[in-house]
Amino acid sequence: MVDEIPLSEPDITDAEVAMVERVLRSKRLSIGPVNQAFETAVAARTGCRHAVSCSSGTAGLHMLMLAMGIGPGDEVVTTPFSFIASSNCILYVGAKPVFVDICPKSLNMDPQRVEDAITPKTKAILAVETFGNPSFMSDYRSIAGRHEVRMIEDSCEGLGGKYKGRAVGSFGHAGVFGFYPNKQVTTGEGGMIVTDDDRLADLCRSYRNQGREVVGGNTIGGWLAHERLGYNYRLSEIQAALGVAQMRRLDEIVEQRQRVARLYIERLLDLTDIILPTVDHDTFMSWFVFVVRLSDRYNQDERDRIIEGLHRHDVGSAPYFPCIHLQPFYRAMGFKEGMFPVAESVSRRTLALPFFNRLTEKDIDFVVQTLGLMLGREGLKRG
Ligand SMILES: *Cc1c(COP(=O)(O)O)cnc(C)c1O
Repeated sequence: MVDEIPLSEPDITDAEVAMVERVLRSKRLSIGPVNQAFETAVAARTGCRHAVSCSSGTAGLHMLMLAMGIGPGDEVVTTPFSFIASSNCILYVGAKPVFVDICPKSLNMDPQRVEDAITPKTKAILAVETFGNPSFMSDYRSIAGRHEVRMIEDSCEGLGGKYKGRAVGSFGHAGVFGFYPNKQVTTGEGGMIVTDDDRLADLCRSYRNQGREVVGGNTIGGWLAHERLGYNYRLSEIQAALGVAQMRRLDEIVEQRQRVARLYIERLLDLTDIILPTVDHDTFMSWFVFVVRLSDRYNQDERDRIIEGLHRHDVGSAPYFPCIHLQPFYRAMGFKEGMFPVAESVSRRTLALPFFNRLTEKDIDFVVQTLGLMLGREGLKRG
């Protein structure tokens, strides 16, 4: 069931439909010039030498783990407050996620804790721009440099953003973007690795295409010659067409998202008990989602009832994010409540509000009004 004001809604223009149609009517539906054009656009935008398209953000993260030679016995320092893919990719290769608690304002990993978590087994720091916020990315970069470990930037929530003038995606040895329909740019499903490292880029090009040999950026040699165990993590030309057209509009998309965020912040300032997202002065946010937090007068049950209440009024909302370490199969690995108190406390009280490019002022007012009503109701129940 879809709410009248949904949590997210894709924004596809006629120009984008036309680009997709052109590919559909061409003779080339996979591995072709449109993928290359999409890669060039993302590389240019992030200032990275290479961009490697792939079938999803998750596939991109998996390939980076492989290309960096991360495997059993290795540790990767990462955040427990994220979408699960940022940690699952570590498990795919048999390595161990080492979670560190977050900073309550930016919701990104606390840099001091990142540094403290590094051991001789650490191979990489995997950082996430939580909800699009790039705070501390340069700190993680310095820490990775000091300890001679890799930094992987899971930028799936941050395309178009900047931190201290530098593009999101360009802080790590490699970054990954995702193009699921709720992201800033969508291809339906899709992903993109960005890096300055020639070898890493070629390895990812090989992994994406069944382990075929790569020379000069292309998989060459016999079509049936395979150098290593690879995957089919390719993006189709049809999907890439949507990506090329969406990238052309990235500035406009980011502006729209900033407009919606600004309107929410203006309207929500009056609601006591709502903690708004913080954006540092050196941060240019492209806004993945709009997530607010209830004050600690509210508990998880009350937050959940507020989300249900919003749905009853046809307003989309969701508990972004449940902690990764408390998901059942992570608990089975020994993670439990109390290990990351800041992430857990934040996660019990956060809720995402409807957020997409074309959200109208009228709908924002309705969302804020309904949220106010639900907050009041929970407050009244408590007396
Ligand atoms: C969206 C997202 C991904 C990747 O998602 P896909 O659906 O695989 O494209 C990875 N990490 C984070 C933090 C995300 O938000």
